[in-house]
Amino acid sequence: MIKVTIWNEFRHEKTKEHVKAIYPNGLHAVIADFLGKNEDISVRLAALDDEYQGLPDDVLEDTDVLIWWGHMAHKEVDDELVKKIQQRVYLGKMGLIALHSGHHSKVFKAVIGTNGNLQWGREQKEIIWNVNPGHPICAGIPDHFLIESEEVYSEPFFIPEPDALLFIGWFEDGNVFRSGACFNRGAGKVFYFQPGHESCRSFYNPYVQKIITNGVYWAAPNNLGFDIEDKCPHMLSPTKDEFNA
Ligand code: ZN
Repeated sequence: MIKVTIWNEFRHEKTKEHVKAIYPNGLHAVIADFLGKNEDISVRLAALDDEYQGLPDDVLEDTDVLIWWGHMAHKEVDDELVKKIQQRVYLGKMGLIALHSGHHSKVFKAVIGTNGNLQWGREQKEIIWNVNPGHPICAGIPDHFLIESEEVYSEPFFIPEPDALLFIGWFEDGNVFRSGACFNRGAGKVFYFQPGHESCRSFYNPYVQKIITNGVYWAAPNNLGFDIEDKCPHMLSPTKDEFNA
């Protein structure tokens, strides 16, 4: 069973009527609906205004994959919480999926190590091109698909060189964007995926749902078989017996 916690800032859905109309219970609830259809995935919802910003230690320690959606309130997220998430990813205990405006979250920036800046513009049609069809996150995704309306995100996108580039988004005005990218960080795995503006319906798109679902399976921690500690100890040499075995 993969335990997924879907963290949402959850402010736009409460304050803006047009957003509430699309995501009445929050966009995290829609993500939970489609992920929850998989018998081997369990989902939990968390929001910024919950106690401990939705992520007390016991929840964090019981999370295999953390999905992050934030926008206007990135600065309100507690720095200590960000450090805990970063370490949990580095130690291979948890995967991270940052969605859409999560590119500017403290969590994403702390984990990948750059400012996550990009260019943006008003909503347009987007074509998502699958540029890495052999990657597990691209399984079941056609060579391209259309999103009727999405906020324009455009290059340059200040991320480190991805360990795998999966999708490129093309917008009507000619802008392009690395809309799906994977990063290995320490023993952990990070997936960034661009669609998901709060006033668009992207989280209802079946291909977007499939990609996020594949992302959960990919980002789930490996069973490491040993414990990675948050320190850099002197090496332990293999014993003579191990060599002779
Ligand atoms: Zn947006």
